[in-house]
Order: sequence, then C-alpha cells, then structure tokens
Amino acid sequence: MTAKLDGTAALVTGASSGIGAATAEELARQGAAVALLGRRRERLAEVAAGIEAAGGRALVVPADITDRQQAAEAVERTVAGLGRLDTVVNNAGLMLVGPVADAPEGEWERMIRVNVEGLLYVTQLAIPHLTRAAADGPRRVADVVNISSTAGRVARAGTAVYNLTKFGVNAFTEALRQELLERRVRVSVVEPGTVDTELVSHIRDELRDAVARQTTEIERLRPRDIADAVAWIVTRERHVAVNEILVRAAEQT
Ligand code: NDP
Repeated sequence: MTAKLDGTAALVTGASSGIGAATAEELARQGAAVALLGRRRERLAEVAAGIEAAGGRALVVPADITDRQQAAEAVERTVAGLGRLDTVVNNAGLMLVGPVADAPEGEWERMIRVNVEGLLYVTQLAIPHLTRAAADGPRRVADVVNISSTAGRVARAGTAVYNLTKFGVNAFTEALRQELLERRVRVSVVEPGTVDTELVSHIRDELRDAVARQTTEIERLRPRDIADAVAWIVTRERHVAVNEILVRAAEQT
C-alpha cells in the first residue's frame, strides 16, 4: 500500500522531544523521509532509531536554529541527505513565563531567538527547496506548518512575552501564506493547548512548580494529538489549504 507522503521529505525542528518527536514519527509513518533537527544529538538519535525500527527513514541534523549559519547548514544537509524538501514543521520553541516586571535578564531574548528568529531563518532558507518540490514533486504541493499555541490567540497576565512570540508566529504565518500561495507552498499554523511535554521544565525554578500544577489539574493533550493535526494538514490534496488548527485539551478554559 502506498502512503500519502511517499517520495517526500520533511524537516521537523525541535524533533528531539515532545510534539516535534511525535510529528516526525507520524510523518514517517505516512511515508515521508524525515530530517530531525534539534540541539540534543543523542535524543535525536533515539527518535531516529524508533522511526527506522518502524520501517521509516530518518536523518539526524543537530543544529541550534538561533544561529543562522547552523540553520542554513541544517537545511542544506537535509536536502543533500534526503534529496529534496517538501514539508517544514517549525516546532522548536521555548516557553519562559512570569510577570514582565520580574523577568531576569536574557530570558526574553532566549525565547525570541528560538520562537521567532530561528523560525524565520529555517523558513526563509527552506523556501527555494519547497518551491522546487511544489513544482516537480510527487504531490505537486509543499507545506510549512508553524507550531504556535493557544497563547498565539489569547493573551494572559504572566505570559506576555511568550504571547508576543506566538501572536507573531500567527501573523507571520498568514502573511507568508499569501506570499507563497502562487507557488503552491501552503503555510499553516497549529495552535496546541496544554500538551504533556518537557516544555515547562525550562521555566525558572521559583515558577515551574506552580505552572506545572496548573496544567496537571486537567487531562493534557498528548504530543501525538498535535502530530495528528500536522499530518492531516500536510496530507490534504493540493487544492486544499488548511490554514489554521486550534487544538485544546478538552477541559482547558
Ligand atoms: P519540548 O520542550 O519537548 O520541545 C521543544 C523542542 O524545541 C525540543 O526538541 C528542543 O530541542 C527544541 N529547541 C529548543 N531550542 C532550540 C534551538 N535553539 N535550536 C533547535 N531546537 C531547539 O516542548 P514541546 O514539544 O511542548 O514544544 C514544541 C512546540 O510546541 C513549541 O514551539 C511550544 O511553544 C509549542 N507548544 C507547546 C505546548 C505545550 O503545552 N507543551 C502548548 C502550545 C504550544 P533541543 O533541546 O534538543 O534543542
């Protein structure tokens, strides 16, 4: 049986854990060869081993996307290794929360570098390859899927700068969608609610437990739930563009 993404290649950023790892696994299950980008080489290798054990094809591409040169090398290594690039999932991200007045120096910059600048670098560097894939690829369409958040639609006290980055991702997605539609490069955004991942582990000590408690009171989404949304978007026929999907945990306000 042929899978929907047979003959295509995907690059997933932040594929070493959580939503990115689950998305890479799902795209591989659907037939894509997958490049796994992240900084933690061993974790990427574990995800790759799982994909290969299940009969898929994976390429480990260690890189820090906040460094434009590393992002460029990662995109080039993906195309050299997999022969093409049809799908980019911009998933790598950081959520460092807390009131603006108390934020330690450097925290905003770290978040903005990953959530905004890294996403911009990877996207721009991929556009020529995606354009080529849409023109002559097996599906005659290419995809960029940006992982935003409910925080990209609803701003709340305590998450101001995370909101800033994710509202920005939503706005960028819509503008880029318009820029690339004539090339048949679709640009979509997925906004997850609360997902059970390592995301909260990066929050500074004095706030982490309180945030974790808030989110564990409800039954959280699993990374696989978001991977399903991404896979659904990129497996639509070429005349269909799913611009946006918001997926909340059922009990989430
Ligand atoms: P994780 O912490 O499990 O995953 C984050 C990923 O980002 C890791 O694979 C990490 O890899 C990667 N990453 C971080 N910094 C960099 C960098 N500089 N260069 C390359 N990769 C980097 O959390 P999630 O899976 O939850 O997060 C994935 C996305 O989902 C994020 O954009 C997040 O904002 C979003 N999201 C998550 C929600 C949740 O409740 N979990 C809710 C809404 C949105 P490594 O450390 O190896 O570099």
